[in-house]
Amino acid sequence: MAELPAGPKTGAEEPGVSSAPGPAVVLIEDEPPIRRFLRAGLTGHGYRLFEAATGEAGLMEVATRQPDIIILDLGLPDIDGLEVIRRLREWSTTPIIVLSARGQERDKITALDAGADDYVSKPFGVGELLARMRVALRNVARGLKEGGESAFSVGDLHVDLARRQVLVAGKPVHLTPIEYRLLTTLIRHAGKILTHQHLLREVWGPSLTEQAQYLRVYIAQLRRKLEADPARPRYVLTEPGVGYRLAAE
Ligand code: CA
Repeated sequence: MAELPAGPKTGAEEPGVSSAPGPAVVLIEDEPPIRRFLRAGLTGHGYRLFEAATGEAGLMEVATRQPDIIILDLGLPDIDGLEVIRRLREWSTTPIIVLSARGQERDKITALDAGADDYVSKPFGVGELLARMRVALRNVARGLKEGGESAFSVGDLHVDLARRQVLVAGKPVHLTPIEYRLLTTLIRHAGKILTHQHLLREVWGPSLTEQAQYLRVYIAQLRRKLEADPARPRYVLTEPGVGYRLAAE
């Protein structure tokens, strides 16, 4: 009966974001032009933004604001962004999305292994960052109702985790135990980048984390079974030099 006031259009893509207070974001970034760019992009999509220009100020902001998500530049003037991640992970599980310079694969891997959830490479579009933020927030929501999630679907791929059944376009696909474990590891972190190390550790155990060729072989097998065109995968995506990501939408 009561109608929502016809306020300024926020451009929010998700229902509810414009009427409820949006998710809180702490942005830790020393470059004013990037902060300005993100201020416009994020507040325009209903996010409540809190900014910090140094690592120390950022840690303080996170402690006081208790945000839903953190966006962190790795190159900060006082403490290294990687150190900020390590300190945050001592007491916080809030998703962290890292902003990093393109090509610095080592930094990205170190950031993910230190506990960051994802990264975007500068220069990036705000649409790309918003998509990563949605995935991170959705994973938190999924984690909160842990146990209720017994199936996973994206595109034509459907995995019934309770019955251990994999369907592509309605047809059952047979996976070996390792292929299935690799797929369910990707599903648990759908939308998120998993480093080679992370996947090797979870699928094969801590002693084989240097055996990157195992991973390549099994990823190729998985693609042959799941993808319409294994050379141009729709589901199991490569993050060059870093790892793999299962498409979440
Ligand atoms: Ca910087």
